[in-house]
Amino acid sequence: MTTVVSAEPDVQPLVVPFGEGDRSMADLLGGKGANLAEMTRLGLPVPHGFVITTEACRDYLRLGHPPVRLEPQLVEQIAVLEHVAGRRLGDPTDPLLVSVRSGARSSMPGMMETVLNVGMTDAVVEALATRRGPRFAWDCYRRLVQMYGRTVLGVDEGRFEERLARARERSGVADDTGLDAHTLRGLTLDFRRILVEESGEDLPQDPQEQVRRAVVAVFDSWNGQRARRYRAHEGIPDDLGTAVSVVEMVYGNAGARSGSGVCFTRDPAGGAPGIYGDYLANAQGEDVVNGSRATLALSGLADLEPECYEGLLRHVHTLENHYGDMCDVEFTIEEGHLWILQTRVGKRSAAAAFRIACDLVDEGHIDMDEALRRVTGPQLQSLLHPRFRAATDDDVIATGLPASPGAAVGEAVFDSGTAEAWGAAGRAVVLVRPETSADDVGGMLASVAVVTARGGLTSHAAVVARGVGRTCVTGVEGLEVDVENGQARWPGGFVLVRGDIISVDGSSGQIHRGRLEVQPSQVAEAVGHAGDPGHVEHSADPLVRAVLRVLAHADLRRTLGVRANAETGPDAVSARGHGAAGIGLCRTEHMLLGARRVLVERLLTSHDRGPTLEAIQKITCDELTGVMEAMDGLPVVVRLLDPPLHEFLPDLVELSVRVAVDEVAGHVDPELVEQLAAVRRWHETNPMLGLRGVRLLSVLPEIIDAQVRGLCEAILALRARGLSPVAEVLVPLVADVAELEAARARIAAAVAFVAAAHEVDLDLPVGVMIELPRAALTAGALARAATFFSFGTNDLTQTTWGISRDDAEGSFLSEYRSCGLVRDDPFETLDQVGVGRLVQCAIAEGRAARPALGLGACGEHAGDPASVRYFADCGLDYVSCSPPRVPVARLEAGRAAVLPAGSAQSAGARSAPVGVPTQ
Ligand code: ADP
Ligand code: MG
Ligand code: MG
Repeated sequence: MTTVVSAEPDVQPLVVPFGEGDRSMADLLGGKGANLAEMTRLGLPVPHGFVITTEACRDYLRLGHPPVRLEPQLVEQIAVLEHVAGRRLGDPTDPLLVSVRSGARSSMPGMMETVLNVGMTDAVVEALATRRGPRFAWDCYRRLVQMYGRTVLGVDEGRFEERLARARERSGVADDTGLDAHTLRGLTLDFRRILVEESGEDLPQDPQEQVRRAVVAVFDSWNGQRARRYRAHEGIPDDLGTAVSVVEMVYGNAGARSGSGVCFTRDPAGGAPGIYGDYLANAQGEDVVNGSRATLALSGLADLEPECYEGLLRHVHTLENHYGDMCDVEFTIEEGHLWILQTRVGKRSAAAAFRIACDLVDEGHIDMDEALRRVTGPQLQSLLHPRFRAATDDDVIATGLPASPGAAVGEAVFDSGTAEAWGAAGRAVVLVRPETSADDVGGMLASVAVVTARGGLTSHAAVVARGVGRTCVTGVEGLEVDVENGQARWPGGFVLVRGDIISVDGSSGQIHRGRLEVQPSQVAEAVGHAGDPGHVEHSADPLVRAVLRVLAHADLRRTLGVRANAETGPDAVSARGHGAAGIGLCRTEHMLLGARRVLVERLLTSHDRGPTLEAIQKITCDELTGVMEAMDGLPVVVRLLDPPLHEFLPDLVELSVRVAVDEVAGHVDPELVEQLAAVRRWHETNPMLGLRGVRLLSVLPEIIDAQVRGLCEAILALRARGLSPVAEVLVPLVADVAELEAARARIAAAVAFVAAAHEVDLDLPVGVMIELPRAALTAGALARAATFFSFGTNDLTQTTWGISRDDAEGSFLSEYRSCGLVRDDPFETLDQVGVGRLVQCAIAEGRAARPALGLGACGEHAGDPASVRYFADCGLDYVSCSPPRVPVARLEAGRAAVLPAGSAQSAGARSAPVGVPTQ
């Protein structure tokens, strides 16, 4: 069998039969099509079919109509399919029916459309009724009219569901399988009337026309609202298009010995070995995942259809061996015969990702480098999420299936619109639904947890929640959600009103009423002490073992050091516990917060600074003693004072009002008046662009004296106790080398002063923050005057973009994001194009001027996974982030070392689920 040969040899065919594709062709065939081709090659029982390529879809989206050369290729491949299937479309004796299925390169489960039973017509239904019974035939026809109506003609699904519900009621049956042939026939005719009513069109009676229309509808579904929103969230580009697979139908709805199911080769929630999934007898397509009927656990299939079960086990084994990863599988049993309809590398929870990666290493499928590639920083982050403390059964209002682990507390809402609105307003919401469909994705993203009455562990709600890291409980039997009246009745009779607080435990499946106290995860605890000297983890929990093992491997591989930001002894202890190799940023102004704030105020407003400076020197010494003690032997970078003045000075307006009120009352406090004058003198309209960092130090250099002396005294005190403190001094907000040189001279003098006083040798390396564009642009000169650079990318982003960071949250940036003007918040994920360019420029010039120049980065970006990998690729020596983010940074630094070069550039990497992008 050969593919249509095009007139021009270099033109790709637009239609490729399964027999001619393979899994490497996901770009062209979509993940689903490529994997169907691959399974066909492997000899698995896959129905015949072909794939219309993503190129055809892109052409369609560009032209507004299918490319001209598609039609003849489609006609030819349908003929080939009819030949190999031994059945023809529209044949009145033994008709072929097909499914027309979406499937893009990256998995977008349930986000696009699929039409089943295409080819069913008035003539065909009679033929099928004769051959295989009228109930089956009319069930297929009813499904086609419904799916065609919704997908091709855009008819509201509710119109069909309403008829179905009424039919069930009238027939006195709980689900659609109870409807007889006569009723289904009535429904089919009814549905067709709805089609005509709503769209002015009936179902075409030419099967080829049905195929053509379905193909176009699937193309269009690429740009459906759900699909767009999902892509935006997952960072999938909008211009790839979807492939369309046309597959010979196999029938899970052909009676009691038929059915359809989904299967994971391992538990996707916890990662334990052994197949896992749901089966539904006498069911087709989505029936098994949409929660309309109670499914059977796969183990039940062993009793029902032992041969099919054995076959399934064999095939999933083949697939795991072949793909070297956990896969998920859609299968259908038609009258005792097993068919595989789809496979892909399966989505999994964060916990399962770590567990499965390590198990696959032990089973010889992959090595530790690959295990490291298969987990992500965000996954590790989610495992550090807390759990409920002291959850008792007393306040449990329901127990469902633990579909996605975690513990979340929020206000219950019953529709996705409210979830999105409340979520956008910063409220924590729990979305409680009868079941979820693709329309609920926005609401799910806006929620901290999702609860559904129906659906199993592989239901839509479960799959999406795991993918996006939301806590989720499904299958809460007996839960009745009354969306209209904004309330839900739980199985025990408890009624919850919109806005009531509930606590959702995604690990146990329990729903508690009210707010439960949360506690940190076992993983967080283990990871938080793994760096303690002498600490050995003997956890019985396979997840904890897996995380520590992967982290250890990341440490082995990474070249990027990970330090922490800390200002106090306890924080430094925690940092070391998390595996920090030093303090990359000690913000001395943090030592002057709270009750000590007044010191900075006095520094600026009082005439006699002597006592204030002495106090600052003492505090600096005390705090740094604690920090350096915890970090004994490891470097501690002490940044000189960098207080944004407005955070330390009294508010000008408030103070003015107070003085004015006093004046009116006739008793003026001279001190207050003096203070007001000082505050007015220091007042700035743009404090973030004002007298900060080295500028303040240049104006009041006595601050340098006090801080450096305090630091030196701390060093000497620790040395006297036999410890080995290692300190470096960092000068903030430098724009020009002259500022740096003046500060450096003053630092050297202060060090010399203490050294002389104690008759010891002291030498403190001096580094410079690169956090202004001018610093980056004059890096060569700065490097000659400093031994290391520390990139302060918060300020560098602020000043490069000209966006106030203090106002960034909730500012126009979020609107920019929602309308696509920026993809990522540059304060969250480093803007590699702009800010990154300055970083690279500074590195190049700096290293040229001083080859041994040390390079670090500190601030928010140092804990952001994509940014960490970027910094690693830039060749920095270390990043410095907050202590709890240290493990994530270690993991991502390790991944940077084993991932292909340039992978840090994928902006979607932050939230992309693990695994090969397939569908
Ligand atoms: P999705 O990408 O949303 O999973 P699919 O294209 O996989 O959509 O199809 C939807 C459902 O229909 C799945 O359950 C699938 O197994 C089923 N299905 C698709 N093609 C066939 C077929 N040829 N025969 C029987 N069932 C099918
Ligand atoms: Mg599918
Ligand atoms: Mg700064």
